[in-house]
Amino acid sequence: MLAVVAAVSYYGLYPAWQAWLTEREAARIEAITPQQLAETIPNRLDAQRMMDDLSWMAHPDREGRESGQAGALATRHWLIEQYQSIGLQPAGQQGYLQEYEVKEHIQFSGLFRQRQRQIEAITNAANVLGRLPGQQPDLPYLVVTAHYDHLGIRNGDIFHGADDNASGVATMLELARYFQHNPTQHPLLFIALDSEEKGLQGAVALFQHQMLTAEQLAFNINVDMLSRDTGRKLFAVGTYQHPWLHPLLDQVQAQSSVRLIRAHDRPWWRAGRTENWTQSSDHGVFHRHGVPFVYFGVADHADYHSPRDTAERVDTGFYHAVSEAVLSFILLLDQQLAADAG
Ligand SMILES: [Zn+2]
Repeated sequence: MLAVVAAVSYYGLYPAWQAWLTEREAARIEAITPQQLAETIPNRLDAQRMMDDLSWMAHPDREGRESGQAGALATRHWLIEQYQSIGLQPAGQQGYLQEYEVKEHIQFSGLFRQRQRQIEAITNAANVLGRLPGQQPDLPYLVVTAHYDHLGIRNGDIFHGADDNASGVATMLELARYFQHNPTQHPLLFIALDSEEKGLQGAVALFQHQMLTAEQLAFNINVDMLSRDTGRKLFAVGTYQHPWLHPLLDQVQAQSSVRLIRAHDRPWWRAGRTENWTQSSDHGVFHRHGVPFVYFGVADHADYHSPRDTAERVDTGFYHAVSEAVLSFILLLDQQLAADAG
């Protein structure tokens, strides 16, 4: 009898409950409408330079920057030149680079290791790391991450990966230029990560090979897909895990013309079948190592992971506004964490 009741509850009530939670979360997201969006926003980042950098990475000559392939290697060497001209200090194991290889294996995740993913072998991979010392060099790092790899060529089509994630890397470079002239309190680490599309393997390699330890890091800001305007929405993922971020994001919202939506970080018993993006990009690896994080990115759009994700389709004004919002967040975070540390 008990088993029958349990089975009826499970097959009858559980799906209904999940559907209700999913709808409730969708309504919550839809209801997040700031009083009004700022009409004028700060203009500290060079929108044209970001578009030039994005377009270089998304050019057909880069062949979609698949990890380990020629286009990714060319991008990596170009990134080293950018880091040098910005004046970032090398922070890898071979100058700016952390080279690594991945053997084929099965990766488990989840509380009960219930999720598994087949990870393919990767050779010739490398993360690109540069740093700025900050005004208080003894503080732990704020780490800005953006993956530079994408899907390469499939069935003869180049997957250019303009939004995913040339946009994040171009923003990261422009942020580095800004902070070179306007130093933060914390030291900053900028990491262009490889192999994200192959299961976050670049971020995994950072910790696996003792390149970094969680103790050295105060916070991870991950940017992945910043440049496509879907309802002027920018998602900020991580406030469920770190509710202390809300007041900072409120301040960012007050000076932004994009809608900052805090979502896609709630577990199934809070948000039903709403996608949980906590492990969807490299911030997930920082989170697994206990490093506080926020992930900024737009919603999946029609050109996501398609050959149509090109530089021409970027929404340039929106992309600039999003990048300014990320900069505002880092400035506020730096102040608050430095005050907490002092
Ligand atoms: Zn991505």
